[in-house]
Order: sequence, then structure tokens, then C-alpha cells
Amino acid sequence: MTAAQILPGLERKLKAEITGDVMFDRFSRGRYATDASHYQMTPLGVVAPRTVAEAERTLAIAREEGVSVLPRGGGTSQAGQTVNESLVVDCSKHLTQIYELDIGERRCTVEPGIVLDDLNRKLKPYGLWFPVDVSTASRATIGGMTANNSCGGRSLRYGTMRDNVLSIDAVLADGTRAHFGPVAAGLSNLPAGSPLRPLARALLDIGLREADEIAANFPKVQRRVGGYNLDAFAPNAPEHNLAHILLGSEGTLAFSTRIELKLSPVLGRRAIGACHFGSFYEAMNAAQHLVKLKPIAVELIDRTMLELAGEIAMFRPTLKAFVHGEPEAILLVEFDEGETENKRRLKELAATTGDLGFSFHKTGAKWGGIVEVYDANLQAAIADVRTSGLNIMMSMKDQGKPISFVEDCAVPLINLAEYTARLTQVFEKHGTRGTWYAHASVGCLHVRPVLNLRQEKDVKAMRAIAEEAFAMVREYKGSHSGEHGDGIVRSEFHELMFGKRLVTAFEEVKDKLDPKGLLNPGKIVRAPKFDDRTKFRYGPDYAAPEIKVALDWSGYPGAGGGFQGAIEMCNNNGACRKSVGGVMCPSYRVTRNERDVTRGRANSLRLAITGQLGPDALTSDEMAETMKLCVSCKGCRRECPTGVDMARMKIEVQAARAAKRGLSLRDRLIGWMPRYAPYAAMFPWAFNARDKYPRLKQLSERFAGLSTRRTLPQWRKDVFDDKRAPSGKPAQSDAEAAERDALRALASPTGEASEREVVLLADTFNRYFERENLDAAVAVLEAAGYTVHIAKPVDGSKRPLCCGRTFLAVGKIDEARREAERVIAAVAPFVNRGVPLVGLEPSCILGFRDEVPAMVKSEGAGQLALHALMFEEFLVREAALGRFKPALKPVAKRALVHGHCHQKAFGMFGAVERILRLVPGLKVETVESSCCGMAGAFGYGADTIDVSLAMGELSLLPAVRKADGDTLIVADGTSCRHQIHDGANRDALHVARVLAMAIGA
Ligand SMILES: Cc1cc2nc3c(=O)[nH]c(=O)nc-3n(C[C@H](O)[C@H](O)[C@H](O)COP(=O)(O)OP(=O)(O)OC[C@H]3O[C@@H](n4cnc5c(N)ncnc54)[C@H](O)[C@@H]3O)c2cc1C
Ligand code: SF4
Ligand code: SF4
Repeated sequence: MTAAQILPGLERKLKAEITGDVMFDRFSRGRYATDASHYQMTPLGVVAPRTVAEAERTLAIAREEGVSVLPRGGGTSQAGQTVNESLVVDCSKHLTQIYELDIGERRCTVEPGIVLDDLNRKLKPYGLWFPVDVSTASRATIGGMTANNSCGGRSLRYGTMRDNVLSIDAVLADGTRAHFGPVAAGLSNLPAGSPLRPLARALLDIGLREADEIAANFPKVQRRVGGYNLDAFAPNAPEHNLAHILLGSEGTLAFSTRIELKLSPVLGRRAIGACHFGSFYEAMNAAQHLVKLKPIAVELIDRTMLELAGEIAMFRPTLKAFVHGEPEAILLVEFDEGETENKRRLKELAATTGDLGFSFHKTGAKWGGIVEVYDANLQAAIADVRTSGLNIMMSMKDQGKPISFVEDCAVPLINLAEYTARLTQVFEKHGTRGTWYAHASVGCLHVRPVLNLRQEKDVKAMRAIAEEAFAMVREYKGSHSGEHGDGIVRSEFHELMFGKRLVTAFEEVKDKLDPKGLLNPGKIVRAPKFDDRTKFRYGPDYAAPEIKVALDWSGYPGAGGGFQGAIEMCNNNGACRKSVGGVMCPSYRVTRNERDVTRGRANSLRLAITGQLGPDALTSDEMAETMKLCVSCKGCRRECPTGVDMARMKIEVQAARAAKRGLSLRDRLIGWMPRYAPYAAMFPWAFNARDKYPRLKQLSERFAGLSTRRTLPQWRKDVFDDKRAPSGKPAQSDAEAAERDALRALASPTGEASEREVVLLADTFNRYFERENLDAAVAVLEAAGYTVHIAKPVDGSKRPLCCGRTFLAVGKIDEARREAERVIAAVAPFVNRGVPLVGLEPSCILGFRDEVPAMVKSEGAGQLALHALMFEEFLVREAALGRFKPALKPVAKRALVHGHCHQKAFGMFGAVERILRLVPGLKVETVESSCCGMAGAFGYGADTIDVSLAMGELSLLPAVRKADGDTLIVADGTSCRHQIHDGANRDALHVARVLAMAIGA
């Protein structure tokens, strides 16, 4: 039956009966066609059921229509188990409840869609956690972890999911509900009518029948997640628990609805011994001896990873703190035994490495020793180094990428050194390389050779490497699938690993539970070839035609001057689905829709530019919807492990759409604001009338889409005046202003920048709506002895300068470029002399460093990017140089500070905190916030105001409401201040205002 034949009935029935999301459009299906593997299979449709009952009904409808079902959590699997031409049931949006929590018994029962980090946050107050700490904890769901039999970095102590799941409630392929739990001897706890009785009998029979095969052919390593867990039913298994057949079954045997988990006490104060080695081989060889000291983890960082981390300024202090000399590898050996015992274990660790012949006094392979790390902050920083080193590796911009297919083989520790050496040779033989990292404790090291799967020759190399690697693993009685599961990548190789007889037994299990193949078919058993390119994300027909782009993407390969390569940087790892910490991705945090997360947007773009979503997909309404809730916060630019910069990509989409379809009235009102602002300031009463008369508000909503629930910024006549005197008083005439400028130039007769000169950009928003901020900045700078030039146009026009941000926001790139070029020309005489350009509005100043160089290719643009500084950034720099030493007086006891997203994206928010800390007696606290939700014009839209307010409510607005009246609320962004005003009824201050108060201006 083809998709076209079955879709209408399936979709109609689902839409009639399911209140959760039912998505059958091309864009939605495309967004669910990939996981974190290199495969792509387009599903028939997607359902995000609101309740378990709806999930069951969805399965029933699929069954009635004869289509298969693919359960899905965070979609972060690396082996292709979460892609299929089935009906996807997304558990991650709604099925996130904790049903029962028994603190005393340390157990809980949860729905499958709950994310591990979210669960652990809820358990923390009780001193408990679920300890299978996968690296994807911020987005991996318990359902996905269970079905993948996932393992964390501390599996040496806690084991895999199989060791931590007590029972599972599941729906079988025929709709039967069943409780998969422990089976008593003689099946005495399964009543005669129980549907599980025959199944348990069959599994125990297979276990008994295949006992010898299992003993001979099941890998003898802890990290074995491949195949079905038949060993759990062998007569010698420590217990018989039916749940174990579902652990690692990858959605192929049943749909889990409730999962009962064993919880553990949270970890205490830990100690890490950073064991240095002069040779990678020696490090691998040592691992078997180090685990005898019973650490909770032994994690590897190799030389390449250390070098990559060393290229990042923020990691250098960490490396300096724990790396001694130039090791080829470091094993981080972690203990959690209480303070005294931790110390004793580290001494024992030092003695063990000494006994193995390592010493910092030696040279060559036996050089080595221990660096002890007790400080929790340094431990966390070291963990960051390891993860981010991997991210850099993943962020290579070539078409060749590190590919995951032999990434998680596990071998006995005794063979680890030989295995890694031989596999490295295999990579070399096939003209590639790999960097090793991760779980040395359990013989499961990660390594990804770099390959370009668009090329037939690299696909062939992939097969050759896989076959050689798996043969080697089999030789060592290891596991080809030690962490990430089977999916498409490993299932084909089960016969090589387990033997034909056990593979037949796996098929028997599948046929007992899912005889019609309705659950994630083609995974674990009867799988396709792993190098079937028709199932690749970058398949044989994958290509992007040339695209006209507005910005410079030359750092990347592919069509559109590299736009294609920039989009393809998304490898679907799902880090953008985290729900707390950092900024990325505020729209997903509110809606929980795959459409509204960076990954969903990147996938939509990739499919659109390669013609997989039909003609003109880039400028379609579906694409506009996909981009609508992206607030261009640039959170992804900084926090996405591969640096996907969706804010910049959105500009391309807006530009393409504007060119094809023109602008809406709202977009025109927003985009052209800098052009009509001078007139609005002449007649503020007319432009402010909209907020006074409800009828006008309604009309503005109807015709311009501006929400009646928002006030607009209020125009005023007394705007900031470019002709102001250094004292803060406006000049009386153009002639007087010109004379003053000439005098200032004379102050620097050589043309060299004086140390105490700045040029200030009065941006459109502060100039017209909040001139007090600019006045305050001038006052502070002048009080500190700086000569303040105000940047003025040099093109003969009287219209003030503007960075062009509003034009960028609506896709009018030519106009934005024109504005940027005016600024470049205006500030060139200053920045060419090294005078910094200082500004108050983060999105303007940081635009000069980010978007402007991407749209204006000139030396002037480069100079501007080099010299554009935020006000507080400039002052922090000056304070460090000893030139900014203001006499400040106390202004308040506490300041609550919210960072603008762009400040955070550029790592510049610290400057705000640092400069405020100069104010005596001021306790500076930061709101742990994502985007405020206002995001320029976003918050004003009638169609976006609800999401805008919900973003504010995530953390910013509640924190502001909690602050007492004497607390200063500080926010540098105009939009952020507006959101705080509307949502929490408090007036926030720009940091310049706080400093001005502190100098008594
Ligand atoms: C960068 C990176 C790092 C990783 N690190 C680790 C690691 O440290 N340890 C590790 O073990 N893995 C790791 N993984 C792999 C992956 O993140 C884990 O396997 C994770 O547990 C998958 O969770 P998920 O919610 O994304 O599952 P998904 O990918 O959505 O689903 C996984 C499987 O579970 C099935 N499934 C989902 N829900 C149900 C349900 N309700 N009933 C039945 N079947 C269901 C799906 O059909 C699929 O077969 C990593 C992946 C990436 C990209
Ligand atoms: S956008 Fe970045 S964080 Fe999100 S899935 Fe893609 S690569 Fe990962
Ligand atoms: S720019 Fe912000 S809102 Fe847009 S995708 Fe990136 S993180 Fe999400």
C-alpha cells in the first residue's frame, strides 16, 4: 500500500479523534524524517498525543489502517532507529508526567516523554536522581532511553538503563495492555488469563533453548546494547524480568506508556585524578588497572581534543589549572566516596600509576602522573572542556563530517589498547582519521572517522571500516553496539556478532510480539543494508540548485555562496531542545513544537533549498510559519554545538520572501521606522494617538497586526540632539557644533586617537524614545574625562544615523546595507584613528560585528566591526587599563540584571555585571533568563503576543515581580525594558543610567 492510498483515511480519522497535534503536511513530515544519524526516512504523518489514552487510540487507528508506528522521544538517536516510513508518535510534547514518586523506596513511575534533566530537577529536592547520565540528558526522554537501553558516563557504577528500569507498562502491537515486570518462578505471579503468560513462557523457552548460544555468543562486556536481551531469559540470569525484553528494543516490540525507575541518592563531593600519559597506547593499557580502584567513571581526553580546547580562549584557564606538560592522553578518574576516602583513593591512584612505571620525571611513553582535582567548579569546567572539544570537532565546516557508525564499539579493557591502535590503522588505510574520547572505564570509546557521505567512495570506505572494525570487535568478544543501539547502522551486522541462530531467535521474539511488523519495522531484525544510500540524509539525488542570497556565507561550502553548508551544520543532536539554562531556544521552550526549535527550522531549510518540499518552499507560507516564532536571539549561534546561526538564516528567508511577495503593512511600519522617525518626533501627538483611542488600537490590530494588548513606544519632541556640547548642553547652531568638532580634532593634531576619545552612536530607539540613556552615557564618559564625539551623517542628509536593524528584521537587505554604509562612512574618520565606537543598544552594536560585515564587504565595515563596543564593554576595558576610575557613590543595595540575548550570544553580558559591581554597596544579581520575549517587533504582533508573553513568563517576569521596590532592575535592551514594563509593571534602567546616578549626574 502506498502512502498516497492510505494517507487521507488515516489523517481524517486521526484528526477526528485526537486532540493532540496531528500533522500530515510536507514540512512537518520533513521535520520528523531525521534523527541524529545520517539517515532520512519521511514518515507518513506525525501525532503528538495529549494523553496516554490518545496514544493508544493513535496506535489503534494506525492498526485499523494497516500502517506501522514509530514511537519517538527527543529524536537524538545516532543509529537511525528513530526514522521510518511509519506514523510517528511523538511522546516528548505531552506525555511528560511523573505518576508516582516513592521517596522511601527510591522509585518513581513516569510517562515516556519526560526528559531526563527535567526529571532530575524534580527529584533533586529529595536528594535523589536517576543516574543514567547520558550526554543528551537535556533532551533525551526516558522512553527513548529505555528503548535504546542507554548508558551514562557513570555506567561503571550505575550500569545501563536495563539495571535501572524496574518495570514497564506497554501497549502491544495488537492493542493489548501489559505490565512487563519481574516473573516469579513457575510464572506464579502471572494470572492464567494474563496476555503476558504465553509471552513469558515463550521467552523463557527461547532462553532455555538458546542458553549455550547465549553463553557462547553474547558479548562479555557490560556495554552491550545490541540485539534483543535474550540473556535475561537464560536459566542462569540473576532474575527474570519481562521489562528486559523491551529495554533496547527500539520501539520494535511494544509502545511504552509508563516506566518504573529505580532512583539513587545524588552524588556527593567528588574527587578527580587527572592521569596524564605520554602515550595514547599506554593510557588505554592502564585503564584496566585503574578501574580496579572502583572509580565511578574513567573518561578519556586525547591530545587532539586538548589541542582543540586550547584554541578557545575561555578554556585556556581550565587547561592551565589541570593539564601538566604535554600529555598524549588524560584519563579523568572520578571517585565519590566521601571526603576522606576520596583522598585515600587518589593516593592509591597515584601509587597504581607509579607501580605501572609512570612518572613526570621520565620522558617518552612512560612519562605521566596524577593531577588531583577536588574543587567542584574546576571539575565542572573540566567536564565542559571535554564536551566542547567534541563540539569543535563536530563543527568542522567541510562537507566531510565525523560520522557515527563504529562510534560506540565496546571491548574488554584488556584489549582496549590493541583495539584502538588497530582501528586507528584501519582509518589511516582508508584515508581518514578520528579523535578518541569518552568512556574508557567500560571499554566504550567514542570515535568518528571523517567521511563525506555524498561521495560513493566514502560510502564504500564506511562499509570497509565497519566490516573491519566489527570483525575486530567480534575477535575480542566485544560489542559492536555499546551505547547507541542498532537502528539501521548495526542491525545488518547482528549475524556477524551474534551468529545466525541467535538472529533467528531475535526474529522469533519480534514475531511473537509484533507478528504483522507494525512497530518500527526494519530495525534490529530484517534490517536494510546500512549503506543503502536511498535512506541517507544526503542521498544520491541530494543537491541544492544555486540560490540568490543576501549575506556572505563564504565560510561554508555549497550553494548560495555557502548558505547550504551553513544550514547543513545542523546534525540533529537536539541540544536546542533543552528547557533550562542559556538562551537557546526560547520559542521551543514555550511551544514544545519541533517546528519552533532551531533543529526543526534547520531541517525545514535544508529540505526546502534542496527541493524536497516542492517548488518555492523557501518563500512559502509554511516556511514563514516555521520562522515566525524565531526571535532572532542568536542563542543558537553561541549554544548550538555546531554553531547553527538561525537568526542570520532567518534574514535570508525574510529577504527571499520580501523580494518575492513584498512586505505587509506591519513590516513596512517596522522596517521604515528610522526614515519616518524624524517626522513622528515633530508630531508626536499624532503618532501617539493610537494608544489613546481604543478604536485606533483595534484598527492597528486589524490592518497592521499590532496587538491591542500592547502599548507602542511613545514618540516625543525632545529627542536626543546630535549637536550636544561635551558638557551635555546642546550646541546653539550647526556652526557652533562644527567649531566644536574642529576644536576636538585639534586636540589630537597628529591624527592619532587620544586615549580618551570615543565616538557615540545615538541609535534610533534611544534617540527617539529614551534619550535619557544617551544623556547618561555622555555624562558618565565626560565625567571620566573622555571626549565624546557623536556620530553624525556625512552624506549631507540631516536624517540621523541608524544601524539598519529594523530593515534587516523585515528582510530589506538593500535598505539595511544603505543604513550600515552611512554609519561606516560617518565613523570612518574616528575608527580609522583607532577611536572606539560606543553604543547602548546591543542589537545595533553587535550587528556591526555580525551582520554588517556579512552584507557590506569593505575595509570600512571591517574597521567598524573591530571598533564597535558596547558602553559597558568599553568601560570594563578602560577600567582594566586604569583609565576609568570614577568616583561612584551608592545608589541602591541590589540590582537585578537581565542580559539582552545578543549580549549573551557574544559572551559580553559579563561586562554589565562587572561594571555594575564598581558601584559601592550594590549587590548585583543576574536573572537566569532566556529571551525576554519582546525581540524587537515580535512582542507587538497580534499573532505572536501570546508566545512573547509566555517567553517573558519563563523566568524574567516572575523574577522581576519578586524583586522589592528598592531593587534596581537593569536591562540594556530597549525591547527588554518594554517587556519588563508591560509584563511586570516595573521600569528597568540601562546600565548607563545606573552609572550616571552613581556619579551624581
Ligand atoms: C551528541 C550525542 C550524545 C549522546 N550521548 C549518549 C550517551 O552518553 N549515552 C547514550 O546511551 N546515548 C547517547 N546518545 C544517543 C541518544 O541520545 C540516547 O540513546 C537517548 O537516550 C535517546 O533518547 P531520545 O528521547 O532522543 O530517543 P529517540 O531517539 O526519540 O528514540 C529512541 C528509540 O526509542 C524508541 N521509543 C521512544 N519512545 C518510545 C516509547 N514510548 N515506547 C517504545 N519505544 C520508544 C524510538 O522508536 C527509538 O527507537 C547520544 C546522542 C547524541 C546525538
Ligand atoms: S540546531 Fe544545533 S543544537 Fe539544534 S539539533 Fe541542530 S546542531 Fe543540534
Ligand atoms: S535565533 Fe533564538 S529563537 Fe531563533 S532559532 Fe536560534 S535560539 Fe531559537
